[in-house]
Amino acid sequence: MMTNKNGVRIGLEVHTQLTSLKTKLFCSCPSDYRGKEPNSVVCPVCLGLPGSLPVLNGKAIEYAVMAALALNCKISEQMLFFRKNYYYPDLPKNFQITQYDKAGGVPLATNGYLYIEDRGKRKKVRISRIHLEEDPGRLVHIGPIDQSPYTLVDYNRSGVALLETVSEPDMSSPREARIFLQKLRSILEHLGIFDGSLEGAMRCDANISLAGGTRVEVKNISSFKEVERALSFEITRQKGIMEKGIIVKRETRHWDEVRRITVSLRTKEEEQDYRYFPEPDLPPIVLSKEFIEGVKAKMPELPDERMRRFMAQYGLPRYDAGVLVSSKQLADFFEECAKIYEDPKEISNWMMSDLLRYLYENNLEIQESKITPEKLVGLIRLIREGVISGKIAKTILPKIILTGKNPREIVEEEGLLRIDDSNLLNNLIDKVFSENPKAVEDSFKDEKAVNYLIGQLMKETGGRADPILANQLVRKRIHLLKLERMGN
Ligand SMILES: [Zn+2]
Repeated sequence: MMTNKNGVRIGLEVHTQLTSLKTKLFCSCPSDYRGKEPNSVVCPVCLGLPGSLPVLNGKAIEYAVMAALALNCKISEQMLFFRKNYYYPDLPKNFQITQYDKAGGVPLATNGYLYIEDRGKRKKVRISRIHLEEDPGRLVHIGPIDQSPYTLVDYNRSGVALLETVSEPDMSSPREARIFLQKLRSILEHLGIFDGSLEGAMRCDANISLAGGTRVEVKNISSFKEVERALSFEITRQKGIMEKGIIVKRETRHWDEVRRITVSLRTKEEEQDYRYFPEPDLPPIVLSKEFIEGVKAKMPELPDERMRRFMAQYGLPRYDAGVLVSSKQLADFFEECAKIYEDPKEISNWMMSDLLRYLYENNLEIQESKITPEKLVGLIRLIREGVISGKIAKTILPKIILTGKNPREIVEEEGLLRIDDSNLLNNLIDKVFSENPKAVEDSFKDEKAVNYLIGQLMKETGGRADPILANQLVRKRIHLLKLERMGN
């Protein structure tokens, strides 16, 4: 177990839209609502109009079973949908069709786990359950939620299939929570049922408690970029309260991304407030062994498996392979490069260091950048062919990421070609030597002064001089000067 000096316990409830589905969970409206005119992708079922009846999307069950298998869960053979009753403007029926684990209800799957890895340490995080439910509509607030003068409602999202994954409170830091979400996202993306780059496709609620404190729920965390911030804020807030000797209230708080604080929404409601009962409009679902076996047989390669393959096939260290498979897009990018370049380790080195650092610092994902496998490999080839130095390549990389230009084009436009013209370099050596008489004097007996002169020459050329040639020419010049002196 990880050290956990504050007794921090974090559990996550992750809602992921099954974005690969063509239609919503209980009607035939398209599930791709993004960018559409508000309230244009709706029908009587997802608007909850009287007399409309839900019909279950069978593909959603198949996708959910895939997720359950990938998360090592026990799949329920029989289950019901339940109504969760509550009033909220984004919920036109006044109930949400979901699954329940009490009152005769069983979720789609239970008792699973996944492994997260942080700084070389592996940790098992238990998954208590997975179930399907419908997404509510979308409320559009004007400014911060607690200051919005009015709110707009868009029902296009209403009825989109959500997979809810609930973990046990096994995480002990905000960082582990982020790694868990990243891992879950990578697994679902490898299954081909989810695209995490879509805005709002993965949302999570977190419950968090400190040793001796009460459990507080934080809602509205929109991505794994936000989860670390929201939880860090909550830890500081709860610690501050406890240090004053006050008891932390059991409540639900809302993460405000803009102000980067959590604000109190309501004291935590009790489960009985929702009056769960079985949805009478949907028949019980029975999953046969054959169906589950059929899904199992079609399961694609998952991140852990892919990591081991990267180690075996490409000779990558475990850490590097783990980072690359933490995102399906990143892993795909690497493999595309490896198809067209002979040294996979070199590609991995470039991705692990300069490429990922740049993306991380600029809060970009690989698919949001303009670099392609062909362009990264093109850049690496320019170094190998001696056209540019590795140092120059590092300065070109961000330009490729931002503009999508060809590396060779950037080199030519910016005059970055390596200088291997002896005449030109000798002229520059004249300049360097006349500007540094003391170093020239010292260079006859001091190797440090020789290197200093070579360094000055490289500086004159903006790092573009062929380093081997620069080295040779400076040494040759010193040698000639020495001979001249002896002759005098
Ligand atoms: Zn509909």
